[in-house]
Amino acid sequence: MTENGIKYYLISFTDLFGVVRSKLVPATAIDDMKKEGAGFAGFAAHLDMTPAHPDMLAMPSGSIYPLPWKSEVAWIPSDPVLNEKEVDHAPRLVLKRLIARAKVMGYKIMTGVEPEFFLLSLSGDELSDTSDIKSKPCYDQQALMRRYDLISEISDAMISMGWEPYQNDHEDANGQFEMNWGFSDPLTTADRHTFFKFMVKSLAENHGFKATFMPKPMPKLTGNGCHVHLSIWDDKSGQNLMTGDGELGLSKFAYNVIGGLLENSKSLALITNPVVNSYKRINAPRTSSGATWSPNTVTYGGNNRTHMIRIPGDNRVEIRLADGASNPYLLQAAMIASALDGIERQVNPGERIDLDMYAEGYKVKDAPKLPLNMLDSLRLFEKSEFVGNYFGEEFQKAYSKLKGEEWDDYMRYFSEWEKTNALDV
Ligand SMILES: [Mg+2]
Repeated sequence: MTENGIKYYLISFTDLFGVVRSKLVPATAIDDMKKEGAGFAGFAAHLDMTPAHPDMLAMPSGSIYPLPWKSEVAWIPSDPVLNEKEVDHAPRLVLKRLIARAKVMGYKIMTGVEPEFFLLSLSGDELSDTSDIKSKPCYDQQALMRRYDLISEISDAMISMGWEPYQNDHEDANGQFEMNWGFSDPLTTADRHTFFKFMVKSLAENHGFKATFMPKPMPKLTGNGCHVHLSIWDDKSGQNLMTGDGELGLSKFAYNVIGGLLENSKSLALITNPVVNSYKRINAPRTSSGATWSPNTVTYGGNNRTHMIRIPGDNRVEIRLADGASNPYLLQAAMIASALDGIERQVNPGERIDLDMYAEGYKVKDAPKLPLNMLDSLRLFEKSEFVGNYFGEEFQKAYSKLKGEEWDDYMRYFSEWEKTNALDV
């Protein structure tokens, strides 16, 4: 036992698919491990390496997170190094590079995320709360309070870690919840987002439930979004550059940011909507609650949740495209890269659309559509010059390669639908 009561450290890195990989290191060995890193076989994770590669070392970097539900263990995010060189395509390093690029341009970026999740039975087969059956369950007090013991435990944990959580609710699908905490710099947001998923899944299991962030776990219900709120500030003066004398109190700068976010959203859908199932959430038919709450088109409106980008106030924008499967580090990287590109090229986002896109979307004839499936996204991602420029070619190649293998694996899966529809051809 060390003086701070921590007996074990989880030295951890997040791979390209957002899987958190760790070594559990006793406190007696942590000093050496902090200097030399924890060894991993990169090929065994979702990284672009072969079994012949030497040990990849995860070097602890950043804050230490003692687990509020098991205080003798602490989580440490780390950065992978191979042959004494940082692994260029490691998601946390991709994000760090983009934060540094923003700083060179004179900007400090601040973000918050809203990861939604379902609570299922431990087997994952049904909702954990079989009484949660209303057709409009959003904000349902009764269903929220039936999960008070778990939700309050997670909220208390966030308070104890200084995240400044401020609200918890039952979301728009039966069995779905959202918990919000304060915004911060993108690396902190990504570390906390990663830790939040770990914490929600772990505490849900302790309560006999399974928590899932899967984009569309229930075909007829609203899916798990992961909305991002973003603002950009002058790094020196600390002034919020989003506010100005343009429409809805935003600056021309903010509209360039919106332009960049819109224009690059299709190239980056492979990051914001990374799995086969993601495409059942976007472009989806109406759910049993009456709305999907996810975008169909690459458009923006005012304080209007039917568009890809919402303007909730005069100090930030909300991007509603990403889902619960997005890699926390790559999600932040995608937002920063798109915003910087919009600023650099002064991208004009066009006119705001003040329509309910779910009911009246057909009136907007030229609104760009989102990719229909993961393969469409992959094709846009792998040939995008913007992606190569902002994320680095090593990352673009590695992520395209592994996602391509995932798609091929999916295509080899023989589904019941095929049999139903082709047996009698
Ligand atoms: Mg929500």
